[in-house]
Amino acid sequence: MPRGHLHTLARQRQHYTGERFARAAKHLLMQPWAGPLPDASPHQADLEFEVLLRLGRHHMTLGHGWRHGDGPFNLSWLTPHTDAIELGVHPLALPDVAANLMPRLSPDTTGQPTGVLGLRVSHSGAGVELTRLGLPGVVRLPGIRERQWQQALAVARDDAGDTSPPVWQTHQDTLHSQEITYGPRYGTGSSRRLAATGRHPSGIVRLGSALLRRHQIFRTAPPVAGIDLWFNPGQIELEWFAGPTHDDITSALLDPVFGLSGSTSRRGCCRPSTSCYGVKLWCASAPHATVNLRRQSSGWSDSQ
Ligand SMILES: [Zn+2]
Repeated sequence: MPRGHLHTLARQRQHYTGERFARAAKHLLMQPWAGPLPDASPHQADLEFEVLLRLGRHHMTLGHGWRHGDGPFNLSWLTPHTDAIELGVHPLALPDVAANLMPRLSPDTTGQPTGVLGLRVSHSGAGVELTRLGLPGVVRLPGIRERQWQQALAVARDDAGDTSPPVWQTHQDTLHSQEITYGPRYGTGSSRRLAATGRHPSGIVRLGSALLRRHQIFRTAPPVAGIDLWFNPGQIELEWFAGPTHDDITSALLDPVFGLSGSTSRRGCCRPSTSCYGVKLWCASAPHATVNLRRQSSGWSDSQ
């Protein structure tokens, strides 16, 4: 690849991934077959959709990392691979990220547990690795040491007043009964079949993974004042306050090189005289799924 072309691609990729230039360039060279911004395999996308739903809710994570306007979804950068994703987490954002991803049981047996059910951690010199018991898909947090991870979880548990023994300690290699009861992929007695089919239709899962892999487009100047994401059947609701216009976001998401092949319900809105709260976006690789881009033109409201 000519050096000038590589530099241009790496700079463009940084806008989507938040990686440092050298890292973006290295991965462009390492995985030329995967394209400038690789798609996730179906199983990997399934895990990433779960991650997106946990980190996207602003009331869970405050929507940001360690500094106002920095790190949408509490993440500083990401590196996408076909069968894995690496997520950069600042140490100050780690308690929120760890606590929202790891499964937490409800205090009694009647409530639904939270977090990614079946998720367990392993540690290596490279950092933290998160996988679901018996299911493919990997999330890596490079550079996070075992002690840092444990401290972050202890801080989060203290904050939440959670004194029950954590499931990832009591059940390192097996599922807890609450995970089996509530885990849509595990389900009593039919884990293998459910693991193959999953809970969510493949279109919305693919769209969610594609968004996670591009979400650093919300790290903008001026910064968004808040970002929130939730899920309705067939539709991902993505709302932000101030910062980029609809056209800024849809142009990035439909970019011919780094974006999705798709279309949008509206262009050229976000003028003071127009009302344009929700703009929908579809992509060809995610049938029967839309993302509703909800832009609030100013401020952040705690009532949202
Ligand atoms: Zn608009």
